[in-house]
Amino acid sequence: MDFEKFMKSSETFGERTRSPGMFKDLDATELYCPKCKRAVPVRKRLLLVLPEGDKYEYRCVFCAESVGMKTDRREKNMTLIV
Ligand SMILES: [Zn+2]
Repeated sequence: MDFEKFMKSSETFGERTRSPGMFKDLDATELYCPKCKRAVPVRKRLLLVLPEGDKYEYRCVFCAESVGMKTDRREKNMTLIV
């Protein structure tokens, strides 16, 4: 896997989903798969556990192409560290 490309697509996805209200409902969503050239159901997969949150990857159920990324931020816990 090309890690740099991987990170870049992650950033792009983050930009698109940053609008308020859209972020929470991402789990049960269909995402556009560039390989299938259509919106596809996705599988959520835990990718990384970071101090600021868990990073998930979404993969196309048909061709397993990575179609999106999401970080569940633990912002509530951050306020406890003072
Ligand atoms: Zn696909």
